Amino acid sequence: MREAFERIVGNRRLRERLCDDVQNGRVSHAYILEGPAGSGKHTLAYQLAAALSCEHRHSLSHPLPCGTCPSCKKILGGHSTDVIVKNRGEKATFGVDVIREIKQDVYVAPNESAAKVYVIEEADLMTVPAQNAFLLTLEEPPAYVLFLLLCESAEPLLETVRSRAPVLRTEPITTDDIDRYLVRESAEAVTLRAQDPTEYTELLAAANGSIGRALTLLDAKERKPILTRRSLARTFLQLCTERKNSLAAVRFLNSMSPKREELCRQLSTLLICLRDLLLCKQTESAPLCFFADREEAVSLAYEFTTPELLGLCDTVQDTLNRLYANANINLTLTSLAVRANLL
Ligand SMILES: [Zn+2]
Repeated sequence: MREAFERIVGNRRLRERLCDDVQNGRVSHAYILEGPAGSGKHTLAYQLAAALSCEHRHSLSHPLPCGTCPSCKKILGGHSTDVIVKNRGEKATFGVDVIREIKQDVYVAPNESAAKVYVIEEADLMTVPAQNAFLLTLEEPPAYVLFLLLCESAEPLLETVRSRAPVLRTEPITTDDIDRYLVRESAEAVTLRAQDPTEYTELLAAANGSIGRALTLLDAKERKPILTRRSLARTFLQLCTERKNSLAAVRFLNSMSPKREELCRQLSTLLICLRDLLLCKQTESAPLCFFADREEAVSLAYEFTTPELLGLCDTVQDTLNRLYANANINLTLTSLAVRANLL
């Protein structure tokens, strides 16, 4: 098998499919690249753009894209005028004006590459008139053009747009793959991994399948509140298993954020953690969002019955709803502790 799209982490099936399409000249003239923020949509877009113009694209003895020919270097370095990035700029949505620019430019042949690639960021924010104005160009662009519509979800796009562009979905990346990537790409990650393995493992879990998020979390300032949320969720569950350790419960309540917005984030993290435990009760294979280590989740889930976990979910969700509705913070937290049998 030819080495292909090696800079894209995980996503093996997607890489194989695209390699096949490029080699056999079956690349569509438009794709929707769908996936959460930080899941590698931009990397995929640039890799695909490079592959289409790589001087070695037809040589099976070279990786695809080779990454070393002048064309690859230019495109992957972000210096090619044949890769055109379009976004909404300062506006809230993507209007007809952007589509008009594309329409004017699309018939100008690429400067120096085999393909001219339009990377359209946050394509799901395109207004309906813009999408309608785009349809004809999207359907029959010049042969050298590739449109890549990037979005977290293709759902808001018109069916007529979706039917003209196959969806390529980036999959969440496993913690092992994120680990390998960070070790390869970041000296900071290597240091943290060696000096504080527990915190590094927490970072991998908190990245939640996203390389972009993992990179952000390498910054200690970004990481701190997230790791605090995760630690609070664990403490809460630990207290639930201790069945009324009032002193520790009060200490726990005091350690929750006094700021409403952050407190809501802390409780949302707790909900994700509870959801994992519920999943562990029902199935052995569902992907977990909070726990990187399934065994840790399973042994914690073992401490609770399913009705108990459902009850806790309801209680935490209800607490969140009250906080969103501006309820008094201290009172709401005390009520949470009483309802969860901590006090
Ligand atoms: Zn190349």
